Amino acid sequence: MSTEKIQKLREEVVRGAREIYAKGLVENGEGNVSVRVNKNEILVTPTSTKYELLTPESIVHMDFDGNVMGSNKIPSTEVKMHLAVYRDRPKVNCVIHDHSTYVTMLSVLRMNIPVIMEQQIIFLGEEIKCTKITEAHTEKMGSNALEALDINNAAILANHGAIICGKSVDHAVRFAVILEKIAKIYWGALQIGKPQTIPEEITEEHIKMFHGLFACYPRRMRKKRE
Ligand SMILES: [Zn+2]
Repeated sequence: MSTEKIQKLREEVVRGAREIYAKGLVENGEGNVSVRVNKNEILVTPTSTKYELLTPESIVHMDFDGNVMGSNKIPSTEVKMHLAVYRDRPKVNCVIHDHSTYVTMLSVLRMNIPVIMEQQIIFLGEEIKCTKITEAHTEKMGSNALEALDINNAAILANHGAIICGKSVDHAVRFAVILEKIAKIYWGALQIGKPQTIPEEITEEHIKMFHGLFACYPRRMRKKRE
């Protein structure tokens, strides 16, 4: 890939990171955004990101084995989880990890979010699952995240936060915002009563939209839901 194209992708990472910061999904020093460069490389925000100070030059270029390329910056400590998603899901071009408040509250309770909104089906998939608890910054966290993602574009990380993936930065940012909103609605509904789920027989059109427009699970999983 040309230097110019890589520079454009660095700018994309900065844009995505600034957006999740502006939308209140992360505080300074937490969360991370990455984009795919090709089959074997990504660009990722540096460790302890200060979102207002982020520049394209501060974005770390690395390969799928975790080697930093052409820069002495330190990548996010949570990059192993990003790499696990890129290795497993060729259609994914952007991964976001955040600690947004309502998703993280549910993560502390290790709760899944059942299918409660049409928007959830179209953009995120089906029931949003919470991972098993594991030590942060490990390979195991990556495999647990993949297991919880299943065919979906988002998962809750036990006692930690959220992971979101999409075909583009715009998709992933949008999904991160929707996930937090749905977590907030679910939390609020739980305070008042027993949330009702949407029955499967009336979700067919929305499921089709998810599979056709937004899903980025690997081909081998296709049979599972279509
Ligand atoms: Zn984190």
